[in-house]
Amino acid sequence: MTGTDLKNLTLPALEQFLQGQGKERFRATQIFKWIFQKDAGNFEEMTNISKDLRRELSETAFISNIEPEAVEQGGDGTRKYLFNLADGQAVEAVLIPIEGRNTLCISSQVGCAMACEFCLTGTFKLTRNLTTAEIVNQIMAVKRDLIRNPPFLAADAREALSSADDPDDGDDDTPESPADIRNIVMMGMGEPLHNLDNVIPAIQIMIDGNGLQLSNRRVTVSTCGLVPEMERLGREVPNVNLAVSLNATTDELRNRIMPVNRRYPLKELLQACREFPLPGRRKVTFEYVMLGGINDSLEDAKRLLRLISDIPNKVNLIPFNEHEGCGFKAPTRAAIDAFHKYLIDRHVTVITRDSRGGDISAACGQLKGRLQK
Ligand code: SAH
Repeated sequence: MTGTDLKNLTLPALEQFLQGQGKERFRATQIFKWIFQKDAGNFEEMTNISKDLRRELSETAFISNIEPEAVEQGGDGTRKYLFNLADGQAVEAVLIPIEGRNTLCISSQVGCAMACEFCLTGTFKLTRNLTTAEIVNQIMAVKRDLIRNPPFLAADAREALSSADDPDDGDDDTPESPADIRNIVMMGMGEPLHNLDNVIPAIQIMIDGNGLQLSNRRVTVSTCGLVPEMERLGREVPNVNLAVSLNATTDELRNRIMPVNRRYPLKELLQACREFPLPGRRKVTFEYVMLGGINDSLEDAKRLLRLISDIPNKVNLIPFNEHEGCGFKAPTRAAIDAFHKYLIDRHVTVITRDSRGGDISAACGQLKGRLQK
């Protein structure tokens, strides 16, 4: 396929593209909706657009697509998708159905340059950035799969759906179809802030009312701590959620397990969190991978609290998921519980992530696509 992949374009960029071809700008909204809302695969389907324009578009542009090469479902309903890309590379995305609400974890790069010591993706180095189209196509492909194969909804989940909502998201309680994707988290393969040129347009397409129509409060970008890029994200797409993989409470340890810390030490990282524009009552999520015997003591919990206490925060504890060739160990249940309790007792909002998808290697830090050592 040749020409411009229209899935790389935000609505304003599509307007410009059409204008550059001497076409009417207002066509852009129609075409954008065909692509992102009606999932059109070609211009022939766009029946409210003149035949001439459709023919001209097909000569200068195309609409890319991806289909999963493999879908694995774990015992807890988690689904892992393996996507082949046009150049033979592959990435993974993970769907996590919780109480009938779907969270999709998507990738932003093939491999990763950040080299965090505990992360499997990080051991493969960076192969390349994903394009905007490849990022949004993961979402579109999973949506199609959900329509074909809705996730099984347990009775207790159905009940939960009809009553409560997330306590802190402060908006509508409308139950939704099990085939909808509610939350997008950029926590798959790659460092999204290392690919902002493609990630920002992808987010703009996600939250565009004419595009994928996700609420910006339901899109979360997770970073290992690239400080200047955090500032840029806050400037260019205010109102998305920020998650920061903190993982250590001293520069000494963080330098060792996350090389990025040597460039942007804790003090600068936390300052960038303080300055990140967050609307209303929203909080920065601090992810904390618990490595057995390394960062899982009550001393660590205490330091963690001190570091984040002047930032609106919530904490995600992620017990280390073991993978081959990595020397770290999972924390004990007792260490997890004590750490969790220490924070809860001091009124921190804490979630300890169960290792969903562990049985299909879809848990945090276990994604590798088809990368080989
Ligand atoms: N690069 C971004 C996005 C990846 S998010 C970031 O670092 O935030 C993936 C999350 O899983 C990160 O919080 C990371 O610290 C965590 N993680 C990586 N390897 C892990 C492992 N083996 N077990 C548990 N969590 C892990």
